[in-house]
Amino acid sequence: AVDDGITWQKGVCRFCGTGCGLQVGTRDGRVVATKGDPDAPVNRGLNCVKGYFNAKILYGKDRLTKPLLRKKNGKFDKTGRFEPVSWEEAFDVMAGELMRVYREKGPAGVSIIGSGQYTIPEAYCASKFIKGGLRSNNIDPNARMCMASAVVGFYQTFGVDEPANNYEDIEKSDVMLLWGNNPAEAHPVLWSRMTNRKLTHKPTKIVSLTTHLHSSSNLSDLTIVFKPNTDLAIANFLIREIIRRDVVDHDFVSKHCVFSTGPTDIGYGLRNTDKWSRPAERDTLERQLRVKLDRWEAAAQGKKVGEVVEQKNAGGPAGNHWAITFEDFKRSVEPYTIDFVTELAKGDQEESADTFRRKLAELADLVCDRTRNIMSYWCMGVNQHQRGVWMNELIYDIHLLLGKHAQPGNGAFSLTGQPSACGSAREVGAFCHRLPADMLVANEAHREKTEKIWSIPKGTLNPKVGASVMEILRGLEDSSIDFLWMQVVNVMQSAPNNTHWTEATRRPGSFVVVSDIYPTYSARAADLILPAAGHFEKWGLYGNGERRTQAWPQVVKAPGEARTDVWMMMELAKRIRIADTWGELPLKGVPGDKLPSVLDEAQKMGIKPDATLFDVLYAPTGGRAEAVWPDPKYPNRSNATGEALGLAYFPEKALFNEYRQFTVGNGHDLADFDTYQSDACRGLLWPVVDGKETPYRFNTAFDPYAKEEKLFYGPLMKAMPTGNLSGVTDKEQKAYPGRAKIFARPYAAPVEQPDAEYDLWLTTGRILEHWHTGSMTRRVPELHRAAPEALLYMNPQDAEKRGMKRGDLAEVTSRYGTCRAKVETQVRQKMPKGSVWMAFFDERAMVNSVVIDATDPISLEPDYKKTAVKVRKA
Ligand code: SF4
Repeated sequence: AVDDGITWQKGVCRFCGTGCGLQVGTRDGRVVATKGDPDAPVNRGLNCVKGYFNAKILYGKDRLTKPLLRKKNGKFDKTGRFEPVSWEEAFDVMAGELMRVYREKGPAGVSIIGSGQYTIPEAYCASKFIKGGLRSNNIDPNARMCMASAVVGFYQTFGVDEPANNYEDIEKSDVMLLWGNNPAEAHPVLWSRMTNRKLTHKPTKIVSLTTHLHSSSNLSDLTIVFKPNTDLAIANFLIREIIRRDVVDHDFVSKHCVFSTGPTDIGYGLRNTDKWSRPAERDTLERQLRVKLDRWEAAAQGKKVGEVVEQKNAGGPAGNHWAITFEDFKRSVEPYTIDFVTELAKGDQEESADTFRRKLAELADLVCDRTRNIMSYWCMGVNQHQRGVWMNELIYDIHLLLGKHAQPGNGAFSLTGQPSACGSAREVGAFCHRLPADMLVANEAHREKTEKIWSIPKGTLNPKVGASVMEILRGLEDSSIDFLWMQVVNVMQSAPNNTHWTEATRRPGSFVVVSDIYPTYSARAADLILPAAGHFEKWGLYGNGERRTQAWPQVVKAPGEARTDVWMMMELAKRIRIADTWGELPLKGVPGDKLPSVLDEAQKMGIKPDATLFDVLYAPTGGRAEAVWPDPKYPNRSNATGEALGLAYFPEKALFNEYRQFTVGNGHDLADFDTYQSDACRGLLWPVVDGKETPYRFNTAFDPYAKEEKLFYGPLMKAMPTGNLSGVTDKEQKAYPGRAKIFARPYAAPVEQPDAEYDLWLTTGRILEHWHTGSMTRRVPELHRAAPEALLYMNPQDAEKRGMKRGDLAEVTSRYGTCRAKVETQVRQKMPKGSVWMAFFDERAMVNSVVIDATDPISLEPDYKKTAVKVRKA
């Protein structure tokens, strides 16, 4: 449509995982405005304050428009200053450095950190480049830092990733439990829908389970402030009440679930690092792996106080857990009485034990009311958690026991932080352990299927799980990884304990590349900066938090010499020959192990020995040849990637349609590129079967893959040892792969807690006005003025005790670093005594230099919510 000289076309918001649809207005080759798309089912015309500025994030004054390389005396030099260079020179140096490292260290020495902000074609292109081309699995997205615990929770419980429900449940539920999340700031449009439901449907109750008061708890009907990490105990208390009050849906549970437990070392080929090179972190890891049980843990786990428990992640295979009986499970929750949990979890010293106990009882009444529809929502509070996987599993336990999951208005829904953490990072498999559509690098059949679709020789893919984000950063520091490309990510600012990793970028011998639209904190730490095309300057697809795949067309051209990330990967691929990467290679860390040569096999397939990675991975041949440019479906449009390649080719379409082959027929079905791009389409919830989306998975009324005898059909659903199971027939035992798992998971203390010296908890998070590290939103004047700096939210009495008041500058110190921020005691976040809170968008404050880099031992996701700090007046 055209009005006032502005042409409006559909788009998708660049920010959170809500995935709001936009109308994007262009005039004279610029995006001049965006507005909420009234036809979008997610947001129905609404946007939040960030969403309205999708246009302005493209036009900050310091937009990168030329490659910049550190040089001295006319040549690349790590100690040099950034100088503009041609793309030719940038790629020559980059390819030279990549192959120098590759020759020295093999596939284990090179890495990519990607993003949940990748478009789907970008994530697929990157994964294919490093896994298929370089035979390395060292690619991991920043989704590791926000969603990994959710992913493992999904895999272990259902054998397949991502939520079963959808956003329409907001309008169908009577109770919404917010587990440690603050949607008013992090998912504002969903929060508008939740509050609208509350105002228009009187029985609705919103419950905020939180460590401090915030914008969402202000409007909640019941707010329970708990001590950090004790959400584990509250979940166990609810499970105990569900059993005690006998509101278990025995029919559903006996048909579709199995009770389970296991060691803490379960991970889908993930493993903890042995690369802890510094005493502080080594100490942290040891504390994480060998926990001396305090009185709470001992009581919760039925063990002795002071007993040392090994919590090692040994990299066990999927399904490394075992069935237990319902009676065993029931015993596991017996310690979690209302008195025990009140004493353990009460988080506000000002509140009486009686009040807390009454609130817990009220919560249990709501959850156990069989007449109410109940939804659980969570995000970083549960995932960025040293027992994040356990917390995910415990929330599923509650819904599965009640038989209230995957139904309209009933379900456990893990929200997503980034716009395409689901669609790109997870579904495409841009993790170090994953392949597309829920497949795993450690699984031979999955590798073979991938090699077939990629038309590369059998045996090309590396079976060894790669390095996760934190392992890549530690590898950069200890020199086991010397090449890192950060794409669509500002990880040097967003990683915990980040001073180490930033310093590591300057270590001689390493080569660090950043592709971005602005000179972020990470870019300034790099050796080579590549100017990237922005959101509406390229063709893209995102997958939001409810499995909705949405697409937008390129509507403007990128400024200067900025180019798409897909083009950058393809151009680099032209400079690397298979002769250098498909021969026999060392597999570091496995003595004597080699990755065998696949060059003979390649020749048998007709691949010439001098072929480049572009030729074998991306060239418009085979099925990819159908993606031509100009494409009659898209008249009068540009295609930045194909045009820069100089080919009559539409790479994003080719990449997406190739990726789609992984999804069709396995419960993950996507439609084709043109369907999503069509003007009428506002996204579809996968699996899309016979052109129809699936609003609820694991529900025979909606999901063509769900069968009554095998409701939970996840491809990674493993059978478990069955000897310990009672009350289930042999026939039913054989149906385990179709049963969701209900896990017994105890309370466990975090690796560090406030003590005499570091006497406060520090929690970090996002605020409404800024997106993640602020690299885009801080360049929007209106958003910058609204929230110019990160503040230290503090209880007024804690501030006064330290001689401070609102507006004073405070210094926050942990065992890992120090930062400064102004104190705020009155608005937005209201902290209980003993806790402080900061947002991470502000690179000047840089709160992540203070945050502990301990992770969940199963998911390897860092915990940004529990650092012990001390605060004084600066
Ligand atoms: Fe919607 Fe999130 Fe974008 Fe706001 S930031 S408009 S809630 S997608």
